[in-house]
Amino acid sequence: MSAIEISRREQAASATREHVRRVAVSAYEAHEIEEPIEGFHGLSRTVLDEPLAGLRAAQLVADVTAGALREWALRARGAGRTWDDVGVALELPVWSHDGTRAEAAWDWLIERRPLAPATQPPPSAVWTCTTCRARVRDAGPFATHPDDREVGHDDDCARQTAALEAFRREEGDTDD
Ligand SMILES: [Zn+2]
Repeated sequence: MSAIEISRREQAASATREHVRRVAVSAYEAHEIEEPIEGFHGLSRTVLDEPLAGLRAAQLVADVTAGALREWALRARGAGRTWDDVGVALELPVWSHDGTRAEAAWDWLIERRPLAPATQPPPSAVWTCTTCRARVRDAGPFATHPDDREVGHDDDCARQTAALEAFRREEGDTDD
């Protein structure tokens, strides 16, 4: 892919992120606010005052997108394209442990089975703590100890300190 194609894709991806924010504003009553970018004086980025509205908007767009994937694949089939052509357009690998690229495209779009693990990026969930400004790796809601759930807060982060205190109180309660 050429540099121009890549930059066009980046522009389109950026416009899509903007669109998700607009959906949050129009459908979920969020407001856009400007947040300063750390380390860049005078620069800011547009964010939502309610992150959960952004989450719901992204879910809505994802649902619509899943429908669009299927619809355009079926239109491609109607126009004489093969399931392998569909897989090529989706940049699926020629082979996965499940079978051919054509089969993988069918399984994903029509059977709604998730793509084989090898074709998905490794799981990672990182966000910026608005209390201590540190980048935090979110290990999911599985562990009970706050330090196992969220790694990366500053040592004196008030939010993580409060979570640790609440955890110790709960531990104390169950010990009684
Ligand atoms: Zn923090």
